[in-house]
Amino acid sequence: MAEPKEPKAKQSFPPDAVTREYAESLDAADPLRAFRDKFIIPSKENLKTKKLAKPGLSPEPCIYFCGNSLGLQPRATSQYMEAYLDTWSSIGVIGHFRDLEDSPLKQWQLLSEQAAEQMSRLVGAKPAEVAVMGTLTMNLHLMLASFYTPSQTKHKILLDWKAFPSDHYAIESQIKWHGRDPNESMVLIGPDEEEHVIPTSKILSIIDEHASDAALLLLPGIQYYSGQLFDIETITRHAQSRGIVVGWDLAHAYANVELKLHDWNVDFAVWCTYKYGNAGPGAIAGLFVHEKHGTVDYSQGEDKPVFRPRLTGWYGGDRAVRFKMDNKFKPIPGAGGFQVSNPSAVDLTCLCAALSVFNKTSMTEIRKKSVRLTGYLEHLLLEGTTDESRPFRIITPSDPNARGAQLSLLLKPGLLNQVAQALEDAGIVCDKREPDVVRVAPAPLYNTFTEVWEFVKQFKAALAM
Ligand SMILES: *Cc1c(COP(=O)(O)O)cnc(C)c1O
Repeated sequence: MAEPKEPKAKQSFPPDAVTREYAESLDAADPLRAFRDKFIIPSKENLKTKKLAKPGLSPEPCIYFCGNSLGLQPRATSQYMEAYLDTWSSIGVIGHFRDLEDSPLKQWQLLSEQAAEQMSRLVGAKPAEVAVMGTLTMNLHLMLASFYTPSQTKHKILLDWKAFPSDHYAIESQIKWHGRDPNESMVLIGPDEEEHVIPTSKILSIIDEHASDAALLLLPGIQYYSGQLFDIETITRHAQSRGIVVGWDLAHAYANVELKLHDWNVDFAVWCTYKYGNAGPGAIAGLFVHEKHGTVDYSQGEDKPVFRPRLTGWYGGDRAVRFKMDNKFKPIPGAGGFQVSNPSAVDLTCLCAALSVFNKTSMTEIRKKSVRLTGYLEHLLLEGTTDESRPFRIITPSDPNARGAQLSLLLKPGLLNQVAQALEDAGIVCDKREPDVVRVAPAPLYNTFTEVWEFVKQFKAALAM
């Protein structure tokens, strides 16, 4: 078994790191600084208005640290949307099969493949291992329909103790759907009492404890509440060695951290694209099925393809025979064979616009800046204070290998509303989680070191520090 990853060395900062000039110097040296201008940053004024307003009319942008919930709109989106609308209005149904010169979009029939190919680079997959379809929770259900096949002896699903409600409900209902009792078949993996981070060793030992009757493990790549990034490779390998199928919910990991889903041998994964992916509220989602599960074997005859059982629809069928309407299902090899419906082209358009921004750089570059940006946030938050004097605690791991762009700040009881109000008044958008947590997520594509500096100033002022 592989050893869990070593913690990364902490960054060190000079004494003048607490000055605004230092933050500005980091921005000036930032190789990704031009990307901010590829996004529309809401203005402070916009945030207060109750009318439909044009964005950014007032010159003062807000500080948007909520990309873990909904990423900002790329400027490319309206251009792509216009191309989509013009295609539909000018050639109608022909848009399904015709590539138009000057359009950034392929014919609608190939749009999901266009998006899947680009997305595969963000998650470390082969293009055929990624499908762009549906929404996260629906895709999770479809994946569980194929990968969760409980027997009398192997029926448990292991998941995290504070799973995002939708994941929890999906798993609970799948277990009931198979006529089983969630009290017996659902195992929650949690940290020790009073803790928020689950050590890899603890996860591995819980896997061992349930190895004989566990069918499937589903964990979040990054836990939405604590911000912990799990060691996907080590956990996957360990669970698979115990005969457990391994799926990952990458809602908070997609477009945030580097992933190598193929090399890590993950069985399946699902994610949404509207958080760090910037594809727009409720946008079309992605899924990964390892190539070993996507094979279609015709050795028993052209009419008898052998493939992994799944819930099917016509868009999972081979494009060459999709419109033959002969009702003989031949799946596309790979993740594409798990598609069900004709995907929404408008939805794919927004996703392709967002992916066009990611295409101009790489996850390696994005992650490099992200580690620095979040490290700087952590440094400023802790600087000049002690564990005892601080009215808050960072519950996200301090090891950059064990977190993404988000820090979760657990406030002393009773402070949340006052802090949230002060941040709102200062034009800072971040996420509050009752009872006591503020989640702060500087997104490397559009946030700056100076914004981090300004946030910490306002945050400490709100706490009278
Ligand atoms: C954001 C998020 C979801 C949202 O699911 P939808 O199906 O897109 O509504 C589900 N699970 C996790 C872990 C999330 O972070």
